[in-house]
Amino acid sequence: MQSENITPRSVAIVGAGQAGLLLGCGLLDKGYSVTIVTNRTPEDVWSGRVMSSQFIFDPALQIERDLGLNQWEADCPRTEGIGFSIPAPDGSGTQALHWHARLDAYGQSVDQRLKMPGWMKEFERRGGELRYDDVGVDQLETLAAEYELVLLAGGKGEIVNLLGRDDSRSPVRQPMRQLALSYVTGMKRTDYYECVNFNLIPGVGEYFVFPALTTDGADGTKACDIMVFEGVPGGPMDCWGDAKTPEQHLEVSLNILKTFLPWEYERSRDCQLTDDNGRIAGRITPTVRNAVLTLPSGRKVLGLGDAVLVNDPITGQGSNNATKAAKHYLDAILAHDASAFDEAWMRQTFDDLYNGYAEKVVRWTNSLLFPPPEHIIKLLGAAQELPAVASRIANGFNDPRDYANYWFAPEDTDRLINAEAQKLAA
Ligand SMILES: Cc1cc2nc3c(=O)[nH]c(=O)nc-3n(C[C@H](O)[C@H](O)[C@H](O)COP(=O)(O)OP(=O)(O)OC[C@H]3O[C@@H](n4cnc5c(N)ncnc54)[C@H](O)[C@@H]3O)c2cc1C
Repeated sequence: MQSENITPRSVAIVGAGQAGLLLGCGLLDKGYSVTIVTNRTPEDVWSGRVMSSQFIFDPALQIERDLGLNQWEADCPRTEGIGFSIPAPDGSGTQALHWHARLDAYGQSVDQRLKMPGWMKEFERRGGELRYDDVGVDQLETLAAEYELVLLAGGKGEIVNLLGRDDSRSPVRQPMRQLALSYVTGMKRTDYYECVNFNLIPGVGEYFVFPALTTDGADGTKACDIMVFEGVPGGPMDCWGDAKTPEQHLEVSLNILKTFLPWEYERSRDCQLTDDNGRIAGRITPTVRNAVLTLPSGRKVLGLGDAVLVNDPITGQGSNNATKAAKHYLDAILAHDASAFDEAWMRQTFDDLYNGYAEKVVRWTNSLLFPPPEHIIKLLGAAQELPAVASRIANGFNDPRDYANYWFAPEDTDRLINAEAQKLAA
């Protein structure tokens, strides 16, 4: 806490999402004066379309807990593991490969339509100022003149393009998947513990599904499951163009499962959408942007979360990254004491995050957007026989830096498989 007779340091954040609200609440707890400017009211968010599948693994959940922002933890279903399947290529509708492995600690998904309005209320309760405006350059100038530090945490909003793409860190140049989400009720459980069940359909795309907590349409909550479809562009799963109504969206979802993943269809056939807004379809170009925006006045703005680091959701890391980035920025701001938040500090703050963590997440996530090389097929197959390999892959989702040890080079993959095979045989 800062002393009462010293003016608290002032920070403005554009965007009331996963990153902006976490950082804002964390700074308020340390005595900072924080304003968040966002373009959607809690009511807009609550009554709007779903935005994400927002599955969060334990290390990021722990950051939410530490900041006192886990208010749905007791009600939200717990996901205890990762399941992985590949269908048989002969069209028999069976699984050529299946394994599941426990996470060291559970993960959870709380619908952002529920979470963000709740956190906005909590931000105000802690003394933060929430303003509603669709921020452009003029508003950024006003904020930068008024506050010691301005952060741009506008997610996928148009404004983040001002930061400009960092080509050297963005090897993928176009959307690699057609994405769709269906929030549903009525799914039958599997006969093993709750998992993020990930299905890889070679050449077609991916489907993963897991439990979550959503709104009940009034002011309460209900459990649901989130279906995530990742179709290779131009392929048979890139088929959402005609799904205009909620009924059509559900029909397309179930048709994909029936065609490619009959075991998933079997447990989903009686599903209904949670509500008419429990669906989206779209595309994302994975992009790393420049961390610092220079305004016409010369003042600087620092990007945070998806604004600077947007990944395809194929590995479910975006909210996890945004959470870890908010924590990293929080620590960097607190450690900066009374010094000015100049451009050098901004660049250093982002580069430390990127080099120490995010670069490896980006690399692994992007690798999954391309057809799996031979050694990855071998690795995924070995996980069926070797529980320790399955466990290692599953727990990599908690902190994807571990994949650098065995994912990219065939010799590293072989070393892991051989070591675990020897341990099992001993
Ligand atoms: C289909 C899909 C599935 C996903 N699934 C997962 C998953 O399972 N796990 C996971 O970890 N991540 C997932 N993600 C990614 C995750 O949702 C994002 O990475 C995360 O929400 C980013 O947080 P953020 O705070 O940076 O941005 P956001 O949460 O998007 O917040 C941005 C905020 O900025 C506001 N804003 C935008 N423009 C302006 C403006 N001009 N002025 C004022 N305010 C503005 C918005 O209203 C919003 O409040 C998924 C994404 C998609 C698209």
